[in-house]
Amino acid sequence: MYFEETFKEALVSWFDTNQRQMPWRETKNPYYIWVSEVMLQQTQVDTVRSYYARFIQQFPTIEDLAAADEDDVLKLWEGLGYYSRARNFHTAAKEVVAKHQGQVPQDPEAFLALKGVGPYTQAAVMSIAFDLPLATVDGNVFRVWSRLNDDTQDTALQKTRKAYEAALNPYVQTESGTFNQAMMELGALICTPTAPLCLFCPVQANCEAFDKGTTLERPVKTKKLKKTQHQLHTFYIENQHGEMLIEQRTTSLLKGMWEFPTYPAETGHETLEKLFGDAIVIEEAPSFSLKHQFTHMTWHIKVFRAKIVSETKVLEKPTQRWIPVSQKDDYTFPVPMSKIYDAMQQ
Ligand code: SF4
Repeated sequence: MYFEETFKEALVSWFDTNQRQMPWRETKNPYYIWVSEVMLQQTQVDTVRSYYARFIQQFPTIEDLAAADEDDVLKLWEGLGYYSRARNFHTAAKEVVAKHQGQVPQDPEAFLALKGVGPYTQAAVMSIAFDLPLATVDGNVFRVWSRLNDDTQDTALQKTRKAYEAALNPYVQTESGTFNQAMMELGALICTPTAPLCLFCPVQANCEAFDKGTTLERPVKTKKLKKTQHQLHTFYIENQHGEMLIEQRTTSLLKGMWEFPTYPAETGHETLEKLFGDAIVIEEAPSFSLKHQFTHMTWHIKVFRAKIVSETKVLEKPTQRWIPVSQKDDYTFPVPMSKIYDAMQQ
């Protein structure tokens, strides 16, 4: 599509009237906009609202975030998933305080150099907060732009992202924040993946896929993410003092969060029996099973209840801890572990 001023006018005017109210749209504070953009990656707007409000309340400035303990940051993120976002954002806040006097850099390259900031976040924060001419290309924009142009390039490829950023560049020379948000809002509300509302679309006259009837075949995306499957056994273990055993994760997935002892299905029982000997009694049948999806893997968890029936030796790893059952909320648990806790209290 060549540059069309009327396209931009129609889109922006539709956005002015139809955009959803969101607290981060009421501010120009770059830190607040950044918080919202980090949370909105992979998470629905309605879920983000309450998390955003609590986060801003607890860490009203970037200095407050930088000074916080990682555990407190993760606790506020509990339930949002993709916890590396929170850890990276926390690190980036420290970088802003250390290297930029606590000011979110207005230089796009300096901003991109911060931990966890990729081209999408760079373009979103720089355009919305500072009106810098950078085009955002997220899943919504890929869909809208590929349909408008009936484009068959593979949107999973990096070079397609670059091509889209270049094609959108003329539209973001002015009002970039508004234009970017309008494109994303159109993708969220009208140009939806499986049932686009073309009859209500403000830019239908510019849409080649609508003309050709290829709307549902766009965007083209060939790269499929193959999820690995993991069979796990999780043990909810209580001792005679009303305490439960928890363990802090040290691997990159969900690092720093707490869980009930979890092992590959083949080795779980054996590991615990080695650790506790006769002092542990594990129920034979699992209490229940659950499945949890990550972007790149699926956990299939069988949950076993177990009891410690006599005094045992001290725990072997510093990452393990006995805590009173009632103190669960003092620790950050990922969603599947919170579900296990809730089920075991019934
Ligand atoms: Fe999307 Fe339909 Fe609008 Fe084209 S006309 S941009 S397919 S909603």
